[in-house]
Amino acid sequence: MSGVDTADSATSAPTTAPANDASLGPERLAFVTPRTYLEQARPAMSPRALTAVDREQLDGLRTIRAFLKVRTSYDVLPLSYRLIVFDTSLLVKKSLNILIQNGIVSAPLWDSKSSTFAGLLTTSDYINVIQYYWQNPDALARVDQFRLNSLRDIEKALGVIPIETVSIHPERPLYEACRKMLESRARRIPIVDIDDETHRTMVVSVITQYRILKFIAVNVKATQKLRKPLKELNVGTYTGLATANMDTPVMDVIHMLVKKSISSVPIIDKDGTVLNVFEAVDVITLIKGGVYDDLNLSVGDALLKRSDEFPGIYTCSMQDQLSTIYDTIRKSRVHRFIVIDEESKLKGVLTLSDILEYTLLEGEENE
Ligand code: AMP
Repeated sequence: MSGVDTADSATSAPTTAPANDASLGPERLAFVTPRTYLEQARPAMSPRALTAVDREQLDGLRTIRAFLKVRTSYDVLPLSYRLIVFDTSLLVKKSLNILIQNGIVSAPLWDSKSSTFAGLLTTSDYINVIQYYWQNPDALARVDQFRLNSLRDIEKALGVIPIETVSIHPERPLYEACRKMLESRARRIPIVDIDDETHRTMVVSVITQYRILKFIAVNVKATQKLRKPLKELNVGTYTGLATANMDTPVMDVIHMLVKKSISSVPIIDKDGTVLNVFEAVDVITLIKGGVYDDLNLSVGDALLKRSDEFPGIYTCSMQDQLSTIYDTIRKSRVHRFIVIDEESKLKGVLTLSDILEYTLLEGEENE
């Protein structure tokens, strides 16, 4: 196999479009039309220019996509699972304790007055409450009485655009659920069915990026074909990274999460060495029981409040391949990889959103 690789890469490199060829002479340029450009651009994209590793990678991606098209959201659900649903009249502070006690970070909402599904409660909602409190510290008594049905009013008061409530029917292809997630930038979406008798919406479960990627990792052997190193792929973020250090006020980090619509901020030292990661889910422990005093802490002190069960952060290098990344997803509940160099210096961030997007969309326009 490696012999084939070498031969192919040797022949692929010199393939350049004739547009750069001076021997064509200026008279040729006078007749260049947009169509000519297209024709000239083609050879670089043609399969002949691809190495064996490139082709194997594309083949792996195609197999995963084909799998996602024949499986449904229902297939992802385990045989037995629990679903914790919150009534919208629940106090926000009580909801926090229930999440912590059950080791979960989101829950579907149920409006018992209208007997309807009322959206998904996520860490973004708690971050909104924090921002509201931060802007109105005198309103603590009011904040203390917030119920889950006040969340939309908080969104309005803050002027944030409500996250579109996307959902998926359990029998629709999993591929469609993934596309919906990517389009809405939601990291989790509810699986919603219609009750045959009452014709009312019914939340069946919640499907997350992690569950989908793990389902792929467990069931699709072709993930082993994704052998190109990260440094050769356009996946993850490597510039304009939002970072903080141990002394940064935790509120500054929370503002970064909101401003950049991201779910984590790497914590580095003055040399850029990665020390830890502050995650959006960390805000839940920070305001446990509706006590907002810990928001005055530094990131370092806030991270000390994490549960002892915190599994630690996951890192990878630019030499790692998506096959290894999928292997790790199969074995561990990982939500992001912090990309580092040999000296543990921060290079980038590779999140589940990035992996899902690459898996679904890379090279899709050429298919
Ligand atoms: P996430 O919501 O964490 O999956 O991230 C959404 C997008 O933002 C992905 O493309 C990430 O690579 C990128 N991203 C995540 N964290 C950071 C960060 N700290 N700084 C810059 N970009 C990030």
